[in-house]
Amino acid sequence: MSQALEKNQDKVNLLGMDLDELETLMECWGQPCFRARQIMLWLYHRRVASFDQMTNISKSFRTELTQRAEIRFPKLVARTQSQVDLSVKYLFELTDGQQIESVLMYDGDRVTVCVSSQVGCAMGCQFCATGQMGMIRNLKAYEILSQLMAIEADLDGPKTATNVVFMGMGEPLANYREVIKALRLMIAPEGLMVAARKITVSTVGLVPRIHAFTAEKMKIGLAISLNATTDEIRTRLMPTNIHYPIREVLQAGKEWAQTMRRRVTIEYVLIRDVNDSLTDARRLRHLLHGIPSKVNLIPYNEIEGVQLRRPSVEQVERFRQQLADGHYVAPVRLSRGNDISAACGQLRTIYNSAGFVLDSSSNIV
Ligand code: SF4
Repeated sequence: MSQALEKNQDKVNLLGMDLDELETLMECWGQPCFRARQIMLWLYHRRVASFDQMTNISKSFRTELTQRAEIRFPKLVARTQSQVDLSVKYLFELTDGQQIESVLMYDGDRVTVCVSSQVGCAMGCQFCATGQMGMIRNLKAYEILSQLMAIEADLDGPKTATNVVFMGMGEPLANYREVIKALRLMIAPEGLMVAARKITVSTVGLVPRIHAFTAEKMKIGLAISLNATTDEIRTRLMPTNIHYPIREVLQAGKEWAQTMRRRVTIEYVLIRDVNDSLTDARRLRHLLHGIPSKVNLIPYNEIEGVQLRRPSVEQVERFRQQLADGHYVAPVRLSRGNDISAACGQLRTIYNSAGFVLDSSSNIV
């Protein structure tokens, strides 16, 4: 019961506990087993912030809960909204003072929340601001889950997101246990009840973890961040390619797609004069041959201090057309929130001696 052991001022945090953990806790506290399900429904369906609101629980046990437990949400430190596409970047502070970012994006009827899975990231992808931070720590399941819950609580109108993507700070499959736990709580009938098919986990391609994820047989989508068609270029952009080269990563993606009977998403960040040639497009077609897949093309979002550049609109279109000629549907995804540094690969909290602060370019609303 790892969650129960994580205490703040001797209080047990109930947020992030699953049914088994709550049942064990209730048993320890001499409570009937059904209390666990009651609490779970208050936490994840009704999303209450205090035990006083759990009105079908006796007053005496609510008092005991207040003394022994807590519902720990991260603190919302800043909220910045794009003037261009209305996407919102959220900065949350965790109990230990670390900070993470999450993004809310609108696209027609689609309301997508992009969550972080780690503070910083060890993968060191050259094109990514989070990668420049280095790895600080893994997030706990409740810290992942509560990003979605806090953003949904902030929404005007319908209070649920239609989609959730694990494409924020961190490599989700490197924080495997907590990410899987958060996913289970997101899709559980007693949990947040997000449709599994509306959730996507994105990975750089940690092959053994993709195999483990496949074995979970969760109906959750998988995206592979590919970004190159030769191992030489990919290793330059993504150092993990040394351990897991392109063909191995794609083979793992293919096995996932075949097992789950779904298409694996291939994310391809287009970078000028690095991976955006028509030869690259033809090689990509060749690499993806026989793999149930769909490709998202993402023109690179430039970040300070990195020499990589975004290709021209014409070159992006030529690349897309080359794929289309091979019958690959490859929509160009223009990232949301570019003006607030919330676009794909731009999430980063900047450290200074006073602690982590929001990127100074951001416009707090
Ligand atoms: S792209 Fe993802 S895996 Fe790579 S450094 Fe950035 S956060 Fe980490």
